[in-house]
Amino acid sequence: MVVKINENYLKLKSSYLFVEVARREQEFIKNNPDANVIKMGIGDVTKPLVPAVIDAFRNAVEEMADGETFMGYGPEQGYEFLAEAIIKNDYETYGVSLDTSEVFISDGAKCDTGNIQEIFGIGNKIAVTDPVYTVYVDTNVMAGRTGEMGEDGMYEGLTYLKCNAENGFVPELPDEPVDIIYLCYPNNPTGTTLTKDQLKVFVDYAKENKALILFDAAYEVFINEDNVPHTIYEIEGAKEVAIEFKSFSKTAGFTGTRCAYTVVPKELKGFTEDGEEVEINPLWNRRQTTKFNGVSYPVQRAAEAVYSPDGKKQIMEVVDYYMENAKIIRESLTDMGLEVYGGVSSPYIWVKTPNNMDSWDFFDILLNDANVVGTPGSGFGPSGEGYLRLTAFNTLENTLEAMDRISKLEF
Ligand SMILES: *Cc1c(COP(=O)(O)O)cnc(C)c1O
Repeated sequence: MVVKINENYLKLKSSYLFVEVARREQEFIKNNPDANVIKMGIGDVTKPLVPAVIDAFRNAVEEMADGETFMGYGPEQGYEFLAEAIIKNDYETYGVSLDTSEVFISDGAKCDTGNIQEIFGIGNKIAVTDPVYTVYVDTNVMAGRTGEMGEDGMYEGLTYLKCNAENGFVPELPDEPVDIIYLCYPNNPTGTTLTKDQLKVFVDYAKENKALILFDAAYEVFINEDNVPHTIYEIEGAKEVAIEFKSFSKTAGFTGTRCAYTVVPKELKGFTEDGEEVEINPLWNRRQTTKFNGVSYPVQRAAEAVYSPDGKKQIMEVVDYYMENAKIIRESLTDMGLEVYGGVSSPYIWVKTPNNMDSWDFFDILLNDANVVGTPGSGFGPSGEGYLRLTAFNTLENTLEAMDRISKLEF
């Protein structure tokens, strides 16, 4: 007997991007120990949890210290108090009603967007945008829904929907039949959004083709445009065709605290090989109750406080701080004659490299000549070549300093 591995894992390309960014950054720092390097590649929040959240978190920890209020295993799907707060604030505000049984609280949108594929058949044809949040791709590679990665950086068997300046970062509908489409809006990495009408095109496609949309709205809190939907369920009929993922990570600085949720509407149906219709909600419920133990009680109380009047106010101050940085980056780079996208309803700014330089060459110029670290767009997919991502998660002072340094460069 020998142990047989899941050979699909061998198809995965090592996550070269952030490793290589760190390597080049470290090498630069080693050769230039006095340089003040400004990191604008960070895809993580930097501000601490707000006081309203900390108070609720601390109170819940105190409850755990007392035999009268101690909590053991909770419901795997999350506590009702948090599901109710989510529905009231994130859905009813936008005219969407949901039942708490349709909301699954979890420890991350990365985990949920990664795990969701296991309740769907291996034969489903998958579409992703290009560039893409790599979790969607890699988890389908692991499951065996793709072949090998080709020379062009695309996995065989996956459908890539190009997003670039030419199409205004609005993906076109797949030109071959697909069953499942991953969409992330506001988008990571491009920072661009879809309007209600643009998203409706996908919802209508899914309805017509009995396809499913997996909608990642992790950056919803940053939306600043009126015609951009805060939830896919603002689009008529979306409950029949879409699962939505949201997270407290970027919303409320929970990247190290861990809380997110996934909405699986009761209306959503899939099919057996024999064409029999099956509700998807009970499948995800079964998956979560079998493999997941729920989010800790203090963390769920902390997340609930995000929706308190003080919590909302304090969180909007943090969001506004990041978005002021985004505005500065967008406007400064535009003034320098660079083409920039995103940054209006997103903490990410997607910069077209000057003179058709490739992503890594532009990365090196920014690092060596301005001591600013970005993330090369090519690392997010072939259509990211020729772009670079900057983030608004640094301090205002560093953001201003970085823009001042970049403005002195000659391209
Ligand atoms: C940061 C991020 C998330 C959130 O992930 P968590 O696991 O909840 O921290 C989800 N999707 C995208 C595209 C992200 O960038």
